[in-house]
Amino acid sequence: MRTHLRTCSLRVVIPAVFACCGLAPAQPAVQQLGAGLYAYISENDASANSTFLIGRRGILVVDSGLNATEGTKLLGAIRQVSSLPVKFIINTHYHPDHQGGNAAVGPNAVVITTAFTRERTLALIKRPEMEGFHFRPANVTFEKRVTVYLDPYSVDAYYPGKAHTSGDALVYFPQQRVIATGDLFLNRSCPAMDNGSVENWIQALNQVLELPVDHVVPGHFEVGTKSDLRRFRNYLSDLFQQVRAIKERGATLDQVRHEVNTQKYADFRQYPKYQASFADNAAVIYQQLQAH
Ligand SMILES: [Zn+2]
Repeated sequence: MRTHLRTCSLRVVIPAVFACCGLAPAQPAVQQLGAGLYAYISENDASANSTFLIGRRGILVVDSGLNATEGTKLLGAIRQVSSLPVKFIINTHYHPDHQGGNAAVGPNAVVITTAFTRERTLALIKRPEMEGFHFRPANVTFEKRVTVYLDPYSVDAYYPGKAHTSGDALVYFPQQRVIATGDLFLNRSCPAMDNGSVENWIQALNQVLELPVDHVVPGHFEVGTKSDLRRFRNYLSDLFQQVRAIKERGATLDQVRHEVNTQKYADFRQYPKYQASFADNAAVIYQQLQAH
């Protein structure tokens, strides 16, 4: 599933899709990261990872997969660990691969997102090609930050400013020293870039690097460490600086796409088909600088 929207001059992609490539495991992998806390690493690149926290009386889930099928798989994995009710779902952003499973995972859960994500979800529901998805938009929204108390733990969701979209949430588990980043971090991969801000995205990752964190659950692919996150931050920041310098010489968008040097990141996954390649990332940075 993939949809293109056009807004202003910037291409907006509902990425979702990181299909193929044989690097994903054959089965979703569930990995315990701390007390009560698990990462669910999707084996389907078109469906996002999730994180779930088992409290004393209920469960909190971050992101729910692409659709009912993926949500049901995720719920099955949760049920291997606990039979408690799913009480809260936090969606990191509005892209379907992160929230399409809400109804399957937690039909009675309180859904929490940024206000922006809720607005964009309501807009998605009206789109004819989204028929067949049963979105559950947020019941509770926040602008800057919200803390959920899931006895005996607490969970902090916050908006770090525009980044991958204009309303992403990062979800921090202080007792477990873990953060779920949504698509602000993909492990060893070029990200898709919606209407956000790469400049602020780099700042948002700098702030995460200051937090006491041992594990980072990315939007897609395997669980990372701080050094994986630092490398991804370095990629964005390196590319940003290169594009700015090339643009300042008066280069065209096409020249920028070709001139960036990304050799250091040769092991990163690229998905040109989904506007998630080095050249595509460079083009988005160019357009964002142009719009300033
Ligand atoms: Zn996304």
